This record gives sequence, structure tokens and C-alpha cells, in this order.
Amino acid sequence: MNVAESLEAFVTWRETVGGRLGLVPTMGALHDGHLSLVRRARRETDRVVTTIFVNPTQFGSSDDLKAYPRDLDRDLALLREERVDCVFTPGEAMMYPGDFSTWVVVERLTDRWEGVSRPGHFRGVATVVLKLLNIARADRAYFGEKDYQQLRVVERLVQDLNVPTEIVPCPTVRESDGLAMSSRNVHLSPDDRRAALVLFRALSAARDACHAGERNGEALGRLVAETIGREPRARADYVAVADPRTLEPVTRVGRGGAVCLVAVWVGSVRLIDNVLLGSPG
Ligand code: AMP
Repeated sequence: MNVAESLEAFVTWRETVGGRLGLVPTMGALHDGHLSLVRRARRETDRVVTTIFVNPTQFGSSDDLKAYPRDLDRDLALLREERVDCVFTPGEAMMYPGDFSTWVVVERLTDRWEGVSRPGHFRGVATVVLKLLNIARADRAYFGEKDYQQLRVVERLVQDLNVPTEIVPCPTVRESDGLAMSSRNVHLSPDDRRAALVLFRALSAARDACHAGERNGEALGRLVAETIGREPRARADYVAVADPRTLEPVTRVGRGGAVCLVAVWVGSVRLIDNVLLGSPG
């Protein structure tokens, strides 16, 4: 496995490889969710590149950035086991030199939800993703549905800016009790870890209610908010029942289905999760 710490090292490696290339961008602190993307890329492409870069421009506060878990040695060992061909670990100065001046802003899709709670977040995400797509020149890039709004934003930017890489959405990987895997879960105390199950409980309640015939978007949202409200250690940031493409709120779950998105503070950890409602997906 090649570990490219600089742009030059990565470009040199890239020039030597042919065949279909799969890209899996991550911020490290890898878990089975990340590895499911790597395994899918392994199955569908000839060469797999994983990037590990904790992107400072998508963090609101430097405290959140500083607290982000990092364990490069462990990450590299996991990726070696998955037979990844190359790991690209660029430094901040390479990605954002002092004269860096160009940003990617995806409009509309970023007006709500994470876009409101984390101003500037998607500008940082879209910019770094476009840079990584340009650097890697991959045939396919793999993104998790866990970060549903991010996935839609990346799909939009690739379409709008004619990026010749296919974006492959991958299902959310969960712990056996339903908690969506996230690098941030390591910050949960044992009590908060138990309380964090409220996200899955609330989303499952919405999915079940929808299956049982409840199609009113507001009623489904209320059910989710009330379920979260009953967990004393949790505080909902937002609960959305939205169109799965535009992410605009829906009053009724129609034929195209809906996505229920939540962001919840559990203790000092902010978690996000989502579920599709009323559609086969
Ligand atoms: P991150 O390191 O958090 O930026 O995530 C890197 C990629 O892994 C993103 O495309 C995420 O959506 C995806 N990802 C994170 N957690 C999960 C999960 N539990 N299941 C599936 N994909 C995930």
C-alpha cells in the first residue's frame, strides 16, 4: 500500500496506475462505515484510493476541529487489511496554501438543516471534495448516506461543474443496537452512548408510522421530536421531513417518498442520522 503524504507523491503514484479508480474520501478515525465504502470500491473498481484529511474549512470552531479524533497508524493498518492501493494524507498547507482564494458554494441545497446549524460547513465540504476529485481523477467516488445532505451537495456539484466522476451512495452502517457509526461516537460517555440510541428509536418510529399509513409530514416530524424530547440527555437541533432530492420540507409523504433528517445533541456531542420514508429505498 502506497502512502502519499504530498501532492507530488500522489500524482507520481497516480501516473503509474491504469484501470478504473475508486476514491473514498474520509477524515480518518476509521470505523466499519468507512470500511464499507472501501469494500464497495474494492469490488467495483481496479484500484482504490482512500484520502485521510481532517478538513479545517468545514469546521465552525477550532475547538471542534482540535477535538476531532485522529489515529493515523490505526487507520493505515485497517486500510492495509482492506488491500487499499494508495492512501493520500495531504497536509493543511498543501490543501490550503496562504494565497488560497477559491471556494465552491452549492446554493439552495445548503440553505437548510446542516447549512443553517453549521454556517460555512458545506462551502468547506464542497471545496475540499472538488479538490480531491480533481487530484484523484477517479472513475467513481463513494459517499455515505449517513451524511445525507452532504451526499446531495456532492452529487449537485459534480453535475453542475461537469466533474467526470460517478458518485456512488452507500447505505449507513450501524452498530448492532442501531446507532449509526460515526467517528464522533468515541466522545460519548457510557450514559450518553445509551441515550444516543434515541436517534434510531425516533427515526424507526417515523418509518413505522409511515408504513402504517401516516403520510402527514408535520405529524411524522412531531413524532420524531417528541420521541427525542423524552430522552433527558438529548436535545434536538433540528428534525426535518423533507423531499429526498431537494431537501425542502414536505407536508405530505408522496410517491417519491421523503427523508427524515435529525441532528441531536447528546451531552456535548452532536450526532446526525436519517431514514428514508415511504419509498422502497
Ligand atoms: P467522514 O470521515 O466522517 O468525513 O466520513 C467519510 C465518508 O464515510 C463519508 O462519505 C461519510 O458519509 C461516510 N460514512 C461515515 N459514517 C458512515 C456510516 N456509519 N455508514 C456509511 N458511511 C459512513
